[in-house]
Amino acid sequence: MLAVTFPEVGRFELREVPVPEPGPGFALIKVRSTTICATDMKILQGRFPGTRFPHIPGHEWSGEVVAVGPGVHSVQPGDRVGVEVHVGCGGCQPCLDGLYNLCENYGHPERGHAHIGFTIPGGLAEYCAVPARALHKLPDHLSFDEGAFTDNVGVALWAVERAELKPGENVVVIGPGAIGLLALQIARATAGRLVLVGTREDRLRVGRELGADVTVNTREVADPVEAVREAFGGRGADAVIEFAGTGEAAQQALRMARRGGRVVLGGSTGQGAELHIELSTIVRGHLDVRGSLANPRWVSRRGVALMASGAVRIQPLITHHFPLSEFARAWDTFFQREGGAIRVMLHPGGAA
Ligand SMILES: [Zn+2]
Ligand SMILES: [Zn+2]
Repeated sequence: MLAVTFPEVGRFELREVPVPEPGPGFALIKVRSTTICATDMKILQGRFPGTRFPHIPGHEWSGEVVAVGPGVHSVQPGDRVGVEVHVGCGGCQPCLDGLYNLCENYGHPERGHAHIGFTIPGGLAEYCAVPARALHKLPDHLSFDEGAFTDNVGVALWAVERAELKPGENVVVIGPGAIGLLALQIARATAGRLVLVGTREDRLRVGRELGADVTVNTREVADPVEAVREAFGGRGADAVIEFAGTGEAAQQALRMARRGGRVVLGGSTGQGAELHIELSTIVRGHLDVRGSLANPRWVSRRGVALMASGAVRIQPLITHHFPLSEFARAWDTFFQREGGAIRVMLHPGGAA
């Protein structure tokens, strides 16, 4: 089968590799839709210690079950499925609490842990074998393209839940990438006034179409924090959710919250970003500051339900389509942001 491989840090290629066998507890999936995200670049650059090269990436994807290994009863051949990428060992304390994203056996497949596309091969290939526990069945009316967002929507939903939004509150989302635009839509269901902050006008426009009341382009205003306060009639936000992934965005997030507000930081999952801030902003601001990493077990199940109900719309986030054979062009399109790229969709198993 054809697969994207990272043979070593900094280099990718398309290569013919054997179709994997589904071992006990695993299912073999024919991959139909896979997107690329900024994290794939971090993996390529060797910034995830758990990744061993050569590596097959791909962690945002969907497909069709074609075979199951021994002991698998939750799915069967023919099922259409989306993938949740953190699969905990199931036995450590965080896993017993459902917090697969915080598994203490991270990076140890032999202990039952898998991070699909990070520590085990992912879905930028025609076929992929994954633990059946990772799979969520897709309702018939959800497309494979929508199903490829099963993990993303879980990531966004978990961050919104970490923010403990109350109906009618003033909410800021920073970072109109795919995850931020999903968080925006989920927050929309609850928020009173909703402000989206970013640096690219084309993405802010999509954000307005998806429910932002006001958008703030940090490149066009003198003081983004002041611009947000103005949007809320002179006060800070009840809750701020950050998916921009820079230290500056995190600093702005903390300064945009009202005293006693909540701030969820979800963007900086890799190393390198630092926070520089006057500490009294947090202490005298009486802020609840929370990190949000990925998504615990089954959050994606509720995320799929939100896509199925139409509360979360995926199509505006998919800007380009490519066959797997044109991976290099897809990669460039995404990272050069060509044609307003938000998410580029690859179709390893043929057109979805
Ligand atoms: Zn990703
Ligand atoms: Zn665990």
